[in-house]
Amino acid sequence: MLYVVGLGPGEKGKMSLEAIEVIKKVDVIVGYTTYIRLIKELIDEKELVSTGMKQEIDRCKKAIEIAREGKDVAVISSGDAGVYGMAGLILELTSQMDEEIVVKVVPGITASIAGAALLGAPLMNDFCHISLSDLMTPWEMIEKRLHAAASADFVICLYNPRSKGRPNHIAKALEIIQQYKLKDTIIGLAKDVGRKEEEAILTSIAELDETKVDMTTVVLVGNKETYISDNRMITPRGYQL
Ligand code: SAH
Repeated sequence: MLYVVGLGPGEKGKMSLEAIEVIKKVDVIVGYTTYIRLIKELIDEKELVSTGMKQEIDRCKKAIEIAREGKDVAVISSGDAGVYGMAGLILELTSQMDEEIVVKVVPGITASIAGAALLGAPLMNDFCHISLSDLMTPWEMIEKRLHAAASADFVICLYNPRSKGRPNHIAKALEIIQQYKLKDTIIGLAKDVGRKEEEAILTSIAELDETKVDMTTVVLVGNKETYISDNRMITPRGYQL
């Protein structure tokens, strides 16, 4: 059996019981080195196949091979495996094969949801996810989606917001968003959620310090009703109070 497991953002308390059970029972764990480190205490002497960040296809092919040998194997992703994780790639590969491999996707808490809880309640109304990584999606398409989401006043969760190789993506994204949203629109930064460096920062489009944004940050841009009260980011659902 081939499992694709979302580990949640980093700490055991935010993993599902199902994910913990699967990790404990499988013969082999396949994943990116950092994620294997996150679950070290659960895996004892298990066989591990760990690779670097940019070897996703090799990693998934290896996991499929192991499942074909008759072993139980779990491919792990941080957060949810179906949100910019490994679930899609595994299913794309197995669907191209003649042989039937049974795949089970085990959900996890994605960064935006864990980050929202840390910040308050920013996702109480319609929201969307946009990844600012153009490794797989052309930048023009990302811009198009930013225009669409901002013009419809969605709360926007930005993944992969800024890295050494893409230091200006968050600034470029906010330039587009500002064409539709006011400069004092609330922004919440949820950094290293579920890890020991965890931090919540509340700011606005105008006041955002971009250097605080990195690859383990999820950026939540509010809608026009989002506000801050008692240090919490709140998007009203619309109740008459
Ligand atoms: N499958 C993951 C997302 C992978 S894309 C999930 O569902 O969460 C990687 C991006 O996710 C990072 O650049 C960052 O924007 C976000 N992210 C992942 N883990 C995070 C964490 N612990 N804290 C804050 N953001 C995180």
